[in-house]
Amino acid sequence: MIPITKPFMPPRAEYEEYLEGIWQREYLTNNGPLVQELEAKLRAYLDIEHLLFVSNGTIALQIAINALGLKGEIITTPYSYVATASSIVWEGCTPVFVDIDEHTLNIDPNLIEDAITDTTSGIIATHVYGNPCDMEAIQEIADKYDLKVIYDASHCFGTEFEGKSVFDYGDVSTVSFHATKLYHTIEGGAVISRHEDVNHKISRMRNFGHAGPGNFEGVGINGKNSEFHAAMGLCILNYIDEILVSRKNQWLRYADFLTYANARGITIHPAANFNYAYFPVVFESETVMLKVKASLEKNEIYPRRYFYPSLSELDYMEGPLLNRTYDISKRVLCLPLYYDLIKEEQKKVISVIQENIKEVVYE
Ligand SMILES: *Cc1c(COP(=O)(O)O)cnc(C)c1O
Repeated sequence: MIPITKPFMPPRAEYEEYLEGIWQREYLTNNGPLVQELEAKLRAYLDIEHLLFVSNGTIALQIAINALGLKGEIITTPYSYVATASSIVWEGCTPVFVDIDEHTLNIDPNLIEDAITDTTSGIIATHVYGNPCDMEAIQEIADKYDLKVIYDASHCFGTEFEGKSVFDYGDVSTVSFHATKLYHTIEGGAVISRHEDVNHKISRMRNFGHAGPGNFEGVGINGKNSEFHAAMGLCILNYIDEILVSRKNQWLRYADFLTYANARGITIHPAANFNYAYFPVVFESETVMLKVKASLEKNEIYPRRYFYPSLSELDYMEGPLLNRTYDISKRVLCLPLYYDLIKEEQKKVISVIQENIKEVVYE
């Protein structure tokens, strides 16, 4: 069986060493020493000033929206994981969807200005599949209309833009460290702010608003994460360079084949040092995609329709369907990609796809 993804598992003995320390200290959560160590190491690895470890990537988004004081309408992409848009609704704001660029699958900045109204307070854009958005164009619009920018950088661990971490852009970036992501802490995430005051506010917010045992600064929530999750993150951080290299090799192996098929990949931003987090294939039609998917499944290979359906199709969302997203979300498939996926398995995936594409072409 070849699944869409498998979590990276560090050597068990290395995790057990951290458990030993946890049992000695009997300190399990509430900004413990391992959480602080992980935050410091992540800041150093990513070369960023502020990073707060939280319980997941969804609460990271919710806290970011809240901390920046976003209200009313928020412009966002319909092509992302559901959490990008549901967080906006959960925070009492209205998502206004703007269509994507057909080649990058990220929000199309050329369409943003037309969607701005008197009640627009911000833009939440996803760097889809780890590929950075056109951040220069987005920032220009944000500056012109005085809007805040949040990047859902959930897929982006390890991606760089113009030589620095992609997390170091916008007002706030958020990331998920869920087990399915390239770098994970089982469950977890982080909020990265570029301003000291916002970072301070978020550090209070993730801990019920506590400023000390008996005093509070503003409304908060429980967004903390535990020593056990931090320990997993510390173990895996030692392997991150290996993870990124293996992912790149696997990605390029798929890419070599797929340039010949009646399908295409995505266009990576030229200023990006991409993390090769996902391998999406955009087939020429939904029929071809479904055919390929069924054949792969018959061979016990499980790709995923990621992202489908598009978010403006959800029954609690309003507004029209957006043509490009509606069309593309119906014919994309992400191929299996994970640390211990071996060359033979990839060849099997490739040959099943190739057979099907041929059949369809000559039908
Ligand atoms: C995974 C993901 C999230 C949610 O992260 P969790 O840690 O699972 O809460 C949000 N946005 C995107 C784009 C994601 O892929």
